[in-house]
Amino acid sequence: MTPDQAELRRLFTSASLGHTAYRAWALQARHERRFNVARLFEALGAAKLARAESVFRQLGEATSTAHSVERALAGMEPEAIATGPITGTNPLARDMLLRAQTAIKENRDLRADEMGDIYVCSTCGMLREGQLVGACPNCGTVPEAHRSFRAIDAMGTLGPHALMSSLEHTEEGLRKLLDGVDEELLACRLKEGDPSIKELVGHLVDIDAVFRERAWLLLETDRPELPPAHPPKLDAAASYRSQPTEAILAAFHATRRQTLNLLRGLTSAAWHRPGHHELYGEVNLLHQGNWVVAHERSHLVDLAQLRHDLLVHQEECKAPPDLDEVVVTDMNEGE
Ligand SMILES: [Zn+2]
Repeated sequence: MTPDQAELRRLFTSASLGHTAYRAWALQARHERRFNVARLFEALGAAKLARAESVFRQLGEATSTAHSVERALAGMEPEAIATGPITGTNPLARDMLLRAQTAIKENRDLRADEMGDIYVCSTCGMLREGQLVGACPNCGTVPEAHRSFRAIDAMGTLGPHALMSSLEHTEEGLRKLLDGVDEELLACRLKEGDPSIKELVGHLVDIDAVFRERAWLLLETDRPELPPAHPPKLDAAASYRSQPTEAILAAFHATRRQTLNLLRGLTSAAWHRPGHHELYGEVNLLHQGNWVVAHERSHLVDLAQLRHDLLVHQEECKAPPDLDEVVVTDMNEGE
């Protein structure tokens, strides 16, 4: 191996590990509802991935699919290499991470005015913040070939069709998950402080109402300032625990039907009607739709897991721990 190759191998290892670290940190930040910090980690992870891929190609490891299959079967074995630091390795990344550190110390997410849109060159991984003007100064890649991590996309990038489809199918998923499970189990908290299934479903009822109010403001008023007050937290749903399951599902059905009625048949222009949010800056109805769908899907996953964990040790309950079909599936814009 030439010294150049050794350096490329070191970069490949370093950038690959950095990518994994940033991805894991992004997921954790999303979990903690620090969406702008998550967006920063996602951008830094994408920069590392582009860098790793670029170096991998330079090493001649991605020349043809036939060769790739051969290499994959042979079992690639990276040598153990001292990589040096794998994250926070360039000045802009460090500057943005310091801003995130300040926000987190104040127990909040970054605000849109503290973290601009971020762009990552898909060829070399160069980071840029703010407006994307011109080709990559490092490698000449055109703006069109950059990955964007914009504040307005921080909740997801599903379009109206996919959003409506997801909103329409949630009740069906909930019913499949709850069907045949004893009322007692549905109110059971697996650990002290953790919500029961009934509370999780009740929380979705509460959030749907918040979303509909915001949607109404965006559609019916001019550039509304969306209420900065936090949406109801999960622990506000405790009262649902003593309600019959059918009543909670009926409440979900009622609120969701109103929401769907508000959104059905909207034009593209309506979905793009702007408003302002303290954390996310300029948002629109698509942003808020992605927010509610992402929130709902993450709780559906929690529900499915909780249901499984509860039923696995309950032989007397007639519902099986594993459903015949997956209730929450990956979505893409094509749906
Ligand atoms: Zn570049």
